[in-house]
Amino acid sequence: MLVALPNDKYFVKFRRPVRVDETLTVVLRARLRTRGVSIPEGWQLFVTDTKRGRTSYKSKTVTVPTWAMETDPDGKPNEEYQIYYACHEIAHVYTPNRKGDVHGSDFMRNFIRVCPEEFLHYELGYKPRLAAAAGIRKNER
Ligand SMILES: [Zn+2]
Repeated sequence: MLVALPNDKYFVKFRRPVRVDETLTVVLRARLRTRGVSIPEGWQLFVTDTKRGRTSYKSKTVTVPTWAMETDPDGKPNEEYQIYYACHEIAHVYTPNRKGDVHGSDFMRNFIRVCPEEFLHYELGYKPRLAAAAGIRKNER
């Protein structure tokens, strides 16, 4: 039987990230579920009080920063932007190749697969050239 002790590899593999915001983590997980976005099997998603989001292959965690839950690029709380941000990080889970540009065509293909279509356009605000090359267009609603 595998026992998770503090110094065990198993424990290290599934350790939680630092500065987790429990409340916002619950909120974001629920919002993703509502929008039909799945957290990859064996992975965990957290909202953390950090400068940026992160995908850690070592601890199998995806993090979204608290600021992304509070403001979008226009400075307003925006549920759509929160979903987009999580989808961007989840796309990294499926694109572990670190050679070259981590936001290249393989990444964009996975991002398009993971993210609800109506939120894809937020990627243009982060990686405009690469997102446009992948066929992502401005929101025309
Ligand atoms: Zn990224």
